[in-house]
Amino acid sequence: MNNDDFRQWSRRAADWGADYRNTLRGRPVRPRVKPGDILGSIEASPPEAAEPMDAIFADFEQKIVPGMTHWQHPRFFAYFPANAAPVSVVAEYLVSAMAAQCMLWQTSPAATELETRTVDWMRQALGLPDGFSGVIQDSASSATLAAVLTMRERALNWQGNKKGLAGQPRLRIYSSDQVHTSIDRAIWVSGIGEDNLVRIPVAGRFRTMDTAALEAAIVADRQAGMLPAGIVACVGGTSTGGTDDITGVAAVAERHGLYLHVDAAWAGSAMICPEYRHFWAGVEKADSIVFNPHKWLGAQFDCSIQFLRDPESHVKTLAIKPDYLKTHGHDGIINYSEWSVPLGRRFRALKLWFLLRAHGLENLRNMIRNHVAWSESLAARLAMEPDFEIVSEPMLSLFSFRHLAASSGVDPDEHNLRLVNAINDDGRIYLTQTRVDGRVAIRFQAGQFETTAADVDAAFDVVTEIARGLA
Ligand SMILES: *Cc1c(COP(=O)(O)O)cnc(C)c1O
Repeated sequence: MNNDDFRQWSRRAADWGADYRNTLRGRPVRPRVKPGDILGSIEASPPEAAEPMDAIFADFEQKIVPGMTHWQHPRFFAYFPANAAPVSVVAEYLVSAMAAQCMLWQTSPAATELETRTVDWMRQALGLPDGFSGVIQDSASSATLAAVLTMRERALNWQGNKKGLAGQPRLRIYSSDQVHTSIDRAIWVSGIGEDNLVRIPVAGRFRTMDTAALEAAIVADRQAGMLPAGIVACVGGTSTGGTDDITGVAAVAERHGLYLHVDAAWAGSAMICPEYRHFWAGVEKADSIVFNPHKWLGAQFDCSIQFLRDPESHVKTLAIKPDYLKTHGHDGIINYSEWSVPLGRRFRALKLWFLLRAHGLENLRNMIRNHVAWSESLAARLAMEPDFEIVSEPMLSLFSFRHLAASSGVDPDEHNLRLVNAINDDGRIYLTQTRVDGRVAIRFQAGQFETTAADVDAAFDVVTEIARGLA
């Protein structure tokens, strides 16, 4: 492709993107495809000869797009949002055109320094105290892995990377059972082992970790000769928004010298609104906090910020160059690859910079406030219907519910799985299910940039209509 063609096809792609956004409302949120449909439509062997772009683009439109789930659809109420505000897409386009590697300051000075600045903008926007620094990771999973590795190295007096875990005391990490599966995987990958992830019981509306039980577990483990290393707390767990008492957990971490990582991957975006910050009160005592601007805030995937109270132990764990610490930060140079597991890094700060400037915090706050209010009113409407029950009350914009089958002969779990499948096959809205205390519940969250109050009303209509049709 020469540069004239590059210009022409880039324009075509931009037109396509705007048309796509304009026509989203009319598309089914989840595609009507069966496993293997798309695979079977793609040539089994790679082309030997060059093909014209017209043919490639036509196949994209005909074969790929109809097989996509539309995450930018205004009636996407499944999982958590993965918003890509158009302005962040524009920034991503520019980043793609430059395709720079941002591993060292000198491989991308502007990317490095803009990362430092935008992370600090977000620190201020979230109300975190001065002194927290941070890094943009690809995902919360990576940030959590980095935090668990830091817990491990700190507890082993920085010997794990060098000597491995053989012959070391048994490391222990603590969390509730409401944390994301990325915590389990961090425990596996770090070599600590699933059996050493100690699950602390939860209680209350927000399924909050019992801090007395947490402390008792740490004390018992230490008496048994094991090595408590860290705690992973969550604010806004994936299933029902489980939220720990960060003040209480941080006090336990401090008393026992444990590293505290807070996973607020989804809910962190809402902390730009001061009125929601009570959900993570005490967070300034955490050592590490992760939140994903690529979820609710609208930065095109991927963009996950890990804030660090003191980056020293983090960098000491991940930096390959042992003399690095001597200079880090002091000569004004940060090499962010020393703050993450992968070496190569994309330029992720640009989309955040474009996004924050083009929207302004006040507009982003209003959007999040609307999502929370609409979600609460939908939960209240469903609660008033005699054949629906709310399983978990709203945590920000997330709640879960269940439909009560008309006949007692029907298994309630199977009935609700049938319901969520029927809703998603219908295509007007998209929801996902979870299990709460072992029983199936249907999750709802509002968080898409284009969602309106009318879209949330449509969700009520679709859910009640399809549930009653099944009966
Ligand atoms: C989405 C989510 C994650 C995983 O985020 P990735 O960036 O996809 O790794 C982890 N924890 C919570 C609470 C989440 O909502």
